[in-house]
Amino acid sequence: MNKTYAMTGGATGIGAAIKTQLRELGHTVIVVDIKSADIIADLSTEEGCTAAVKQVEQLAPDGLDGFIPCAGLGPAARPASLVTDVNYFGAKLTTIALQPLLAKKKGAVVMISSNSAPMAQHDEELLQALAADDRDGASQLVNARANGVQDAYAGSKLALTRWMRASTPEFAGLGIRINAVAPGITTTPLTDAAKQDENVAKAMADFAAAVPSGREGTPSEIADAVLFLLSEQASFCFGCVFFVDGGSDALLRPNDF
Ligand code: NAD
Repeated sequence: MNKTYAMTGGATGIGAAIKTQLRELGHTVIVVDIKSADIIADLSTEEGCTAAVKQVEQLAPDGLDGFIPCAGLGPAARPASLVTDVNYFGAKLTTIALQPLLAKKKGAVVMISSNSAPMAQHDEELLQALAADDRDGASQLVNARANGVQDAYAGSKLALTRWMRASTPEFAGLGIRINAVAPGITTTPLTDAAKQDENVAKAMADFAAAVPSGREGTPSEIADAVLFLLSEQASFCFGCVFFVDGGSDALLRPNDF
């Protein structure tokens, strides 16, 4: 049966693989991105998110079977606050705003977390600013730090994942399943940009070689897990964080799950 999905970040990388796989199955996919998309919007701002959601509402008035807020920026982005703006606020605002369309069809949401999310566990100041929707406070914190962009990345993914889990009962009450996929290092333009720095490239290559898989993931391997969580086969999955990371989380946190 043809289903209607909306997603963000479908222009390249993991999002492009999700879009392609869904379209190959005959589904309609409405893509929001800053480039090469059905709806062009800058999701780093509240106005951009609102404008994007309005256009999705026009294109899918009968509702959505699913939503994947996949747009994200990596450690090469500057300033660091762009990362919290897109990865946390952009994903959360669009998901909340699309709740009524998702409720109409009892749809499923798959957020994109990261294997780096647990690294922010002790960054309480940033996590609290994000959870409180204090965009300016979060921006000031990460922009003032030497390692701000890494902190912004891990913090935005942990805060988003915590929000997803805390929101699971509310979404379930509307008939919507919400889950997350947490990718490990995956070969995409995001990681290619980070590898422009020789030291980062070496650290990433060493890390990928050390994880149980011994290699980076591919966008289609991440998309496979997203499509599973969207599907009827995942009908009892609510609030899961599905690590698709070559075993890196198991390697780094064997006792935590
Ligand atoms: P990518 O750069 O290929 O894709 C990111 C997409 O987001 C692009 O299409 C880009 O145009 C879009 N985007 C960026 N800024 C935007 C903005 N302001 N407004 C609208 N769209 C915007 O990177 P990717 O690796 O495929 O990343 C996809 C998601 O996966 C991101 O959320 C990322 O954090 C996450 N992720 C990636 C990895 C990895 O190793 N590649 C690991 C863990 C999580």
